[in-house]
Amino acid sequence: MAKLLIIAEHRDGKLSTATLELCRVAKEVAPALGLEPAAAVFAKDDAIAKEVANYIPEVFVVADAAVAAYTADGYTQAIKAVVDAKDVKGVLIPHTYDGVDYAAKAAMAISAGIVSNVNKIVAEGGKLVCTRGIYNGKLQETKSVTTDKFVISIEKGAYDPAEAGSAGSVSAVSASFGAIRTKVKEVIATSTGGVDITQAKVIVSGGRGLKDADKYKDVVIPLAQKLGGEYAGSRPVIDSGWTEASRQVGQSGKTVTPDLYLALGISGAVQHVAGMKGSKCIVAVNKDPEAPIFNIATYGIVADLFEVVPGIMSSL
Ligand SMILES: Cc1cc2nc3c(=O)[nH]c(=O)nc-3n(C[C@H](O)[C@H](O)[C@H](O)COP(=O)(O)OP(=O)(O)OC[C@H]3O[C@@H](n4cnc5c(N)ncnc54)[C@H](O)[C@@H]3O)c2cc1C
Repeated sequence: MAKLLIIAEHRDGKLSTATLELCRVAKEVAPALGLEPAAAVFAKDDAIAKEVANYIPEVFVVADAAVAAYTADGYTQAIKAVVDAKDVKGVLIPHTYDGVDYAAKAAMAISAGIVSNVNKIVAEGGKLVCTRGIYNGKLQETKSVTTDKFVISIEKGAYDPAEAGSAGSVSAVSASFGAIRTKVKEVIATSTGGVDITQAKVIVSGGRGLKDADKYKDVVIPLAQKLGGEYAGSRPVIDSGWTEASRQVGQSGKTVTPDLYLALGISGAVQHVAGMKGSKCIVAVNKDPEAPIFNIATYGIVADLFEVVPGIMSSL
């Protein structure tokens, strides 16, 4: 049977959460398309492939020094080798820095149509229908690929990671590599010691309505700790240095999908909403009843946050 293939992402021997999210998507939609879910791992050996096999029934590994470190040329050639060898119909790629770098190139190499930055895919009438945000998340559009083969890149955090199950099979695919025109000399982290808020189940996020750094620290952080979650903020909070950059939510920050997102003194600008609209329950506290955050909030509290938060704290 033809395959719906996800491309695993890993660095320093660690598998990314985005890979596990793709495992869930592939297992959910493949049967309705008459396809089998599978994964491809490109690495120096098969260690990561064995780990991925806990989440998806079949894993193909291209183990070669040419793909020991990520490069767009290396991944594109490895994808083509797996697609040619294993009757692959569709390729799912994490919409991450690396994924954005090679997705279109891989689509060209296998003559596939591509839809990028997708936040939801469903199978309808044997076809995939992809939903993605446009105009900074103001609108959602749906697209289908009309070519025989397709490549889709999926937004990080749009799906829950797959749970581990019984181990699937791992088999080698050989690839002969041509020119790889870039060389990774060093990977430099943009922030060190930054927390990964994308994994938090509860996020308490503060905005400019907190007024200053001291009030942010006194109000947002204790509530987050009491709820067993992470604290975060809108861009002005980060730009003003009230908390570290790794905690920024939004278009130029992180995309988060916690079970609970508590927005305190945040207006709900499109650039902020783009990063948190997928949260399962959104509770907004804002003293302006016209604040746009109320358009997407599950529960809205029109009130002064400095009165509401102490009330919540005392009832926990
Ligand atoms: C290219 C680009 C990228 C951007 N990326 C991001 C991004 O990643 N993330 C992001 O957040 N923004 C981003 N922005 C900025 C964005 O446009 C907004 O300016 C920003 O989100 C506003 O932050 P805020 O809601 O905290 O502040 P404001 O818009 O100033 O809102 C403060 C809110 O607090 C309320 N308030 C005030 N006092 C109280 C009180 N005592 N109790 C209750 N409510 C109160 C007010 O009614 C108001 O609604 C980006 C902008 C651009 C142009």
